[in-house]
Order: sequence, then C-alpha cells, then structure tokens
Amino acid sequence: MSEGGLPFRQFVLKVHSRCDLACDHCYVYEHADQSWRGRPMVISPEAVAKAGERIAEHARDQRLSEVRVILHGGEPLLAGASRLAAIARELRRAIEPYCRLDLRIHTNGIRLDTELCELFLAERVMVGISLDGDRAANDLHRRYANGRSSYDQVMDAVALLREERYQELYAGLLATIDIRSDPVAVYRTLATLEPPNLDFLLPHGTWDSPPPGAGVPGVTSYADWLIAVFEEWDRGGRRVPVRMFESIIATSHGGISATESLGLSPSDVAVIETDGTIEQADSIKVAYDGAPATGLDIFRHPLAAAAAHPAIRARQLGIEGLAAKCRECPVVTSCGGGLYAHRYRTGSGFQNPSVYCADLEKIISHVRTDDAARRRRGHLMPRAHFDALAAGYGDAASVSDLSKAQRSVRRALLRLLRDRATEDASGVFSAGWDLLVSLDESSPAAVEDVLAHPYVRAWAERCLRAPASMPTDVGHLASIAATAAIRTGMFAELDVPVIGTYVHLPTLGRVRVGDTAIATLTVGGEGTFEVRAASGKWHIDLGANESDLDWQPVRELRAGEFTVRLEDSDPYRDVHQWPAAARLSAEDAAAWQDQFEQAWRLIEQAYPHYAPGMAAGLSVLMPLANDEPGREISATARQAYGAVAAALPASSAELALLIIHEFQHVKLGALTDMFDLCDRTDKRVFFAPWREDPRPLGALLQGTYAHIGVTDYWRLRRHSLDGPAALDADERFARWRVMTAEAIEALASSGALTPLGVRFVDGMRGTVEPWLDEPVQEAAAVAARDWAAERRAAWQRQEPDRR
Ligand code: SF4
Repeated sequence: MSEGGLPFRQFVLKVHSRCDLACDHCYVYEHADQSWRGRPMVISPEAVAKAGERIAEHARDQRLSEVRVILHGGEPLLAGASRLAAIARELRRAIEPYCRLDLRIHTNGIRLDTELCELFLAERVMVGISLDGDRAANDLHRRYANGRSSYDQVMDAVALLREERYQELYAGLLATIDIRSDPVAVYRTLATLEPPNLDFLLPHGTWDSPPPGAGVPGVTSYADWLIAVFEEWDRGGRRVPVRMFESIIATSHGGISATESLGLSPSDVAVIETDGTIEQADSIKVAYDGAPATGLDIFRHPLAAAAAHPAIRARQLGIEGLAAKCRECPVVTSCGGGLYAHRYRTGSGFQNPSVYCADLEKIISHVRTDDAARRRRGHLMPRAHFDALAAGYGDAASVSDLSKAQRSVRRALLRLLRDRATEDASGVFSAGWDLLVSLDESSPAAVEDVLAHPYVRAWAERCLRAPASMPTDVGHLASIAATAAIRTGMFAELDVPVIGTYVHLPTLGRVRVGDTAIATLTVGGEGTFEVRAASGKWHIDLGANESDLDWQPVRELRAGEFTVRLEDSDPYRDVHQWPAAARLSAEDAAAWQDQFEQAWRLIEQAYPHYAPGMAAGLSVLMPLANDEPGREISATARQAYGAVAAALPASSAELALLIIHEFQHVKLGALTDMFDLCDRTDKRVFFAPWREDPRPLGALLQGTYAHIGVTDYWRLRRHSLDGPAALDADERFARWRVMTAEAIEALASSGALTPLGVRFVDGMRGTVEPWLDEPVQEAAAVAARDWAAERRAAWQRQEPDRR
C-alpha cells in the first residue's frame, strides 16, 4: 500500500439527514454515534458542488475509470425532486469529464412515485430499496414514529420499479435480518420481487452491545436463519443474486467479495455528510459516539487526505489487519473478520473477531460444503468441456453437461412451484405432481423427455414470477405429467387445464376441446389416450394419421437421423424477442422441412465443429411471426434452453447461419446459468461494434460469442462460392472477424470478468486470433477496415451523449 492509502471508489453522499420512518434498528439514529443531531438537515448546493469537485479531483489523481456515488440519508427522498435533480446534474457535471459516474440512491421507498422515477430515468440514478421481507418481518422494525406499518408503501415503490418503463432503475433490495422472522417467508417475498441484487444485512452491534442472540457461546441463531434462506435460495435454482452467498462462493475460489461485510478486500468507501465532513463507513456509528469521524471535511481537505487517515488505512490492511484468531481461521478468506464495525470492544478497539464470529464461521462453512458437494455431483463441468465451449464450439459431451445442468434447474423450479402451490384449490397441480413423482420412480426417462422440453422451464418461471396466474398456469403441470404417462402407456386418469380451447400435451400436441376450463384425460395404453370435456369425447392414437383436426400433433423436422420438433402450439412458447407464429399450415410446415433438411446437411458437411454440439442440445425450432416478409428474425431465450426461434428465411444457407448463430446463445445462456463469467454488479456499458447502442458487459459477451459462429460461417462459406458471392462472403468474414476480435479485447480489458470469465474470453481469443491472419481479397480487406474505422468514429462521436 502507498503512503497515501488506497483510493476511494465509492462515496456515500448524505443529502438529507432526517428520516420519515423510525426504524429501531437504524444505525444513523438509534446507535452510539449521535453526530447527526449537530448537522444541517439538507445538504447545501455549495457542499454538493464541493463534493463533486473533490470526487472528480480524486478520480483524476487516482486515474479511476469509474466511481460510484450513492445518495443517502436519513431518507434521501426527503430532499425533494428538484433538489435531487440538481444534485445529480451537479455531480455529473463535475465528475464525468474525468471518469464514469455510477449514480445511485438508497431509500426506504415510501416516497417513491412516478415523478421521482421519471427524474431518475432522466438523470440516470439507480434506486436501491430497504425492505426486510414479508409484512410480518418488515413490521418488526420498519414503522413510522406512530407505529404504523410502512409495508404497503414500500411494496408500491418496488412495484413501480418493476414496471417496464422503470426496470432499468431497479438496483436491488437490502434486508436487515431479524431472527424472530420466518427466513423462508422473508426470502420468498423478496425473491418474488425479482431484485437484480439482494443483500442481507446483519443487525449492527459490537462486543460491548451485541445484537440480540449474537456473541453468546454455543448459539448461532443468525447462521441458522441464513442457512434456512440459503437452502430455499438453492431449492429455487438460485434465481436471485444474493450477495452474501455469492460472495462466500466467489471468495472460496479466490474471487472477490461483492459486499464490504465479508472478505479481505480493502475498504474503498468514504462518507460525505450534509455539512461536508468526511467520515468512515456509516456502520461504524454503532461503536461509540464520534467513531466514524476523521476530523476532515471537503471544504478544507482533499479526499486523498481521508484515504491516508490511519483509521481508514487500518481497514485496508487485509489479513494483516485482523485479530490473531481471524488470521488463523480456516474461513478467513471468505469472512475477513466480518464487518469492521462488528469487531469493536472497549479496550481492544477493532482488533477482535466479529461479534458474529460463530455465526459467520457456520454459514460460510455451510455454503462452502454445499458448493463442494455440487461440484462432486457434477453440476460443474470438467475443465476440458469448459474450454471446448470457450473456444466457441463445444462437442457433444460439453453440451450434454449444459443439458444436465438445465435438468437440475428445471427440477429445482418444479420443487419451488410445489412449495408455492398452496393456492391450487382445484387440486389439478397436486394430482399432476403425484403422478409425476410416481412416474419419475417407475419411468424416469419418460419424465426427463418431457421436462427437457424448452418451454417447460419457460412455463415454470412464468408461474413463479406471477403468482396471480395460478391456478390455470400452475395446472399445466398435470398436462406435463399426463404427457409422461402417455409416453409410458401406464394407466392414469387426471384433470388437465384447457388453455385457449385446447388441452396441451407438451412435446406431443394439442386436442381442441372447445370453451371449457378443465378436461379429464385417461391414458389407456402406450401412445393412446382419451380426453373428455363438457363439449365431447376424443380418442387419440398418436400413431394414426392427422385426419381429425381436433388433434394437432407436434411435427418433427428430420434430416437423416437427426430430428427436432417444429414447435408451433405450446402455449408457453411466446418468450422470445419476437412474437410466436400461429400454428403453421401443412404447406408451411413442409417448407420448414425442406429447408431444415438442406440446412442441417450443410452444417454437418461444412461446419463439423458445430454439428455434434447442436445435435446434443438443439431440440426445437419455433416459428416466429414475421409481418415484414424478407426481414430476417431469429431469437433464443435463456429460459428456453434447446430452442431456436426464427421466421423461415429465404434459403437453407441462411437457415444454417441462423441456427449456428442462435445456438451460440443457447450454449452461453446455459453456461452462464452455471457460472458467473462477469461481475453482475458492474453496470457499465461498452461499445459493441455491430450495434448502434452500447451494451452491458453480459450482453457484449453474448453478442461476441454468437459472432464467433457468424464469423466462422463466412470464413468457411467463402471457399465454396464463386465470383461476386465469394467476394461478398470474403468481405463479411473480414468485417466480422474485426468486430469479434475488437469485442473480445473490450471484454478482456473490462476489469469485470470473473476468473472463469477471463479463462472463457481467453478461449474465444484463441479461436479468433489466428483468423485475423487468414488472407482475404484486397477489396474485402479495405472495405472491412473502412467500415470498422467508421463504426469506431461514430461511437466516439456519441461519447458526449452517453455521459
Ligand atoms: S469466522 Fe470468526 S475468527 Fe474466522 S475470520 Fe470470521 S470473525 Fe474471524
């Protein structure tokens, strides 16, 4: 560490020092430090201007590419819309000439309304909200001074942030733990709100003043509470990023903690109070009156002076700065002695393990043990398979690993649905569940075949996102179970939902039964079944020709031994960027068959690096509606692994290109379900050479990986063409290789890849780099170079607008 200490990268700017709630666990008003009493209520324009100037100066001197400023309080929304707008503008004006500004506000949410959301959209301010869980948990502390609950207003605020228009503002939720609350109910409530990040905060306390139930020998109530949350998080497929758990997993493998309460990363936060004084992290207020003080202020001192302050430097020493017990602790790389404030004891100061020591040791060990068990169970893939995918290809074995992991995700989602299906008064879901469980024991392959259908996960996620859609959507589980029973021929009789006048049997087809809610399905032997509804009775034999229009089987596209389903009737298929087409006519289906057969032959012959992986993972082509004939549209969806959606293009060669391109997204989507390749908290956007608009890092990675396939397509295709078509292919290859290589370097230099992400991007580079030396026709090389230069210039011209 230099004499001057490490730079600050995060600044908490107090804009209003009073609050409209009276939460009894608040560290600003309810703990030892009472310095708020002597401070101005609202930050002055002069203090804001000086804060912007000091942060800009710090960013310039420390050569920082980005800083984060969090508008805080008290309750920052009490500052009012016009003052907040002025603060945001002033900070951007001062800081953005020197570095990017990630501007956020953290609020109790009760005053958040559309006017403020519009302001935050205009000024690019992300919004984090404090919410302690379900109503019971929230009402334990988060109340008005008169005791009234704040729950409904906070839920309204979160609902507002989840609206499509404001979604990009939604930074996440912060919940303070109370061990009296039900951990599963707390997690489920928070997960339903789909926060982009979920933080759990241990209530603040010290050895002098321990939080209730902490620091008692033999008692680990907080760890037990967190373990219950972890188990629920895991059962639900880990759909919500929970910082605490993700940080433990990351730090167990040499990664970086995403929370200052865990890990050995040095503290990089400074607090600027409403009067301009510079303080240490707010949590230290819990230790003693005046604990966070540095004696410095922005009017008289640069931030570098605070960075060099002994108290701040003491929090940047890593393992050397910890108590002896911590230095020898087996979980120290994940724990880091816990939050600095929680170590305080009169006499020894902060040179102690955390008051939560026993709890931290237990929860970290639990998460680590689970992580190791997951690895043993094969949820993670052999290094060679990972590397094969990173190279842009992935053979059958690598893609089978992805399929296996997706199977686990689907089963986890089903378990979560079962836990939630208490509202299934009709019993349709429960009967389906019982049948599925019994079939899973007797005929697991039949169950797997149906569960592997891409739109089963899309259906499950839809149900979990929108509990209001129960029970019709949830009842679809009975149709899934019935389909598995039909595949085995085992006798079964159960009620199934009717969706849009059809009984839907995923992977098999649909029976038109008319306008009724429920039908009864009886399986009478392998491949035969009967459907009864108020409107009639149908006996279906899957082997018979499609003579009866009431039975519409799923059609298959065949190319030699390889088949995929032409999925144009599943009621949950409409999850792609473009709307799904209605069921195709026999002629249209025949056109798909012709093109698919030729496209697959081309892929097998000319693109042998891709074909085996696709054969192992591609199961569905889903026709998209196309209201502009000639326009090429195609898509994939993370929740529909194995499906490629497209409008039928003009030629089989275009269909081959489209499948190669989209299947890259399928592979990478599944891989990122298993591993974090990018820092998910990094909100920066990057130049994507093939797009007008900047892209977040994850989207840039997706695009780059997909374009390896596109580049490779033209690289090989050009050799089988002549004349102008060959020149055109040559130029496309030259252009795509430049764009893809440039995007790979942007990813590599982003500083926001995880160690696995670095390995993955290295793999991509290893494939693309040699392509840069392949000869192309001179005219193609010149056109590609000019085009790339123009794209970069256009990007640079837009730079001021992006700021
Ligand atoms: S678990 Fe306890 S001893 Fe180990 S690092 Fe954390 S606080 Fe220190």
